[in-house]
Amino acid sequence: MKILILNSGSSSIKYQLIDMPSEEVLCKGLVERIGSEEALFQYKTAKVTVEETLQIKTHKQGLQLIAELLVDSKKGIVGQANEIQVIGHRVVHGGTTFSAPTMVTPFVKDKIKDLFALAPLHNPHNWEGLDLAEEIFPQAKQVAVFDTAFHQTLPLKAKKYAIPNHLFDEHKIQVYGFHGISHQYVSRTTINHLNKPKSKIICIHLGNGCSITAVVDGVSVDHSLGFTPANGLIMGSRSGDIDHSIIFYLVETLGYDLKEVNRMLLKDSGMKGLTGFNDLRDVQAAAEKGDIASDLALEMNAYRIKKYIGAYATAMNGLDAIVFTAGVGENSSELRKRVCTGMDFLGILMDDGANEKREAGILELHTSDSPVKILVVPTNEELEIAKQSFKLVSLIT
Ligand code: ADP
Repeated sequence: MKILILNSGSSSIKYQLIDMPSEEVLCKGLVERIGSEEALFQYKTAKVTVEETLQIKTHKQGLQLIAELLVDSKKGIVGQANEIQVIGHRVVHGGTTFSAPTMVTPFVKDKIKDLFALAPLHNPHNWEGLDLAEEIFPQAKQVAVFDTAFHQTLPLKAKKYAIPNHLFDEHKIQVYGFHGISHQYVSRTTINHLNKPKSKIICIHLGNGCSITAVVDGVSVDHSLGFTPANGLIMGSRSGDIDHSIIFYLVETLGYDLKEVNRMLLKDSGMKGLTGFNDLRDVQAAAEKGDIASDLALEMNAYRIKKYIGAYATAMNGLDAIVFTAGVGENSSELRKRVCTGMDFLGILMDDGANEKREAGILELHTSDSPVKILVVPTNEELEIAKQSFKLVSLIT
């Protein structure tokens, strides 16, 4: 079964064509800077690489280009568009409605639309991707896979904020959590790797956005992102946890504009606010050259992660493994080392040599006598969407 995975963002579409159940990636690529004269179009199969800069005005035009190349007689990978039987869509916010992958129907589309207010930067583009895919691939079954779904299992004590109850009851103001597709893939891969279905795992997703999840027996029980993807860890340009009174102080006492404060906390804070760089490679390079602010920012970043590890080990009353994933988690031995230093009381003992190895795939970074396993598991959200879509479609056909 050939499944096209679509991840539609505000000005981009990332895509992969995956054959299931073989999990072979037949084609992958992206369209970036949609709306500009100089959009970037990438398309890669085993035999063909296309990389062009051209005018792509709309998402529709971008998706049409992808569809045309997929069936192209020379560069294509399928004979006809109807060989693509399923389209698996990443949808960021499923609210309280969706706790599992779902076949797309008019009702489901309406529900995703109802959630625009909760994810204004993501759901409208995800919805547009669904709508366009129905038009361009009318024969394919459409499946929506939600980033929030994995965290629907959070117990109420972790899901609710300590604010008046009616805000939860009537307005659904609660922790939704994000990066769920990644956390689900990485925690399941970890459980399989350790062959330990009964397990207490802390999954640390460190990309541009960062989050941490406590997973008991494969189920998410606590998570650091909240009502929106702003809470918790220090991220590339987002502050993570702050005292909310700072917002009122900035507006009421220092005369900031509220919208500007929101922008600042999301786009100019985190590593960028502390160092001027939001890419961790730049922060590390500056710290190596002796930049004190960059060194402190790395230490603050690691310290926040350590505090969450302590909290989640307590929440789970134990810990079998911590697992690092995503761009920073998979690549930054520096940050991993800072996180794992001084954690021996919890049974986290890192093998520094193993941490420095640059190998693909799952890595084990713990010493042979470490009570807690330390792993790197490369995330693969596209494969997770393909797996979930394949399972759902196979069940109902
Ligand atoms: P996204 O959250 O956008 O999916 P990724 O998971 O791809 O992001 O992570 C991107 C980030 O990973 C980059 O901004 C960069 O900070 C970090 N990164 C990538 N490679 C390295 C590396 N070798 N060392 C340190 N950080 C890295």
